[in-house]
Amino acid sequence: MLKRLFFAVTVIFVIALAKPALLHIAHLRNWQWRGAFHHHIPTQQRAIALTFDDGPGPASDSVLAILARAGIQATFFLTGTEMSREPERTARIIAAGHEIGNHSWSHQALIFRSPAFIRSEVERTDSIIRAMGYKGTIRFRPPFGTKLFYLPWYLSQTNRHTVLWDVAPDLDLSLRFHTDSLVQFTARNVQPGSIILLHTMYDSVSASLSALPRILHSLQAQGYKVTSVGDLLNTTGHRH
Ligand SMILES: [Zn+2]
Repeated sequence: MLKRLFFAVTVIFVIALAKPALLHIAHLRNWQWRGAFHHHIPTQQRAIALTFDDGPGPASDSVLAILARAGIQATFFLTGTEMSREPERTARIIAAGHEIGNHSWSHQALIFRSPAFIRSEVERTDSIIRAMGYKGTIRFRPPFGTKLFYLPWYLSQTNRHTVLWDVAPDLDLSLRFHTDSLVQFTARNVQPGSIILLHTMYDSVSASLSALPRILHSLQAQGYKVTSVGDLLNTTGHRH
């Protein structure tokens, strides 16, 4: 009895100690223990990928109009819940020729969850993307960028690539509400092969939306080709 109690207390103690370390690992943006993974694409070419997370949402048509004016194809990591709620907006993103990525079904962190839950978050979302008629490669971006052990293992077993980012101006709370700061931060921090992440789907993130045309303009002025993740991988000769 005492032995069992000692064992239980030890297990709880080890989990409590390990949790901060696991959370740290889960948030690493440049490392994943298993599977094909991109947070930027090694290249000398002046090309970068532009990605949008979440949605489709109220501002997605404005994003499409800005991209069309700039002649840019980007990657949209959409959630299953929002695609099922917004089929017309989803269809317009696909019809405009952009790349679609899987950003889970319900946007819950896929760490400390059961394998069945994780599989269903990925597979249901891939299914709706296909049901909407999208034919391209579907890559996966975990909600909040967090991943631990099962998710990367499952993605690699099923040949799905993970895409994170190396420049995410609006994740920084000191920049998020300031259009000028978002534009400047992006221009200063991109390098060849960068993967930029922006959240522009909702009216609450209006600074990112108003920064978007200026970000594109400044990147193009720096001589960057702005494109989707798949196109960046292709043009830089990476296997994917
Ligand atoms: Zn997200």
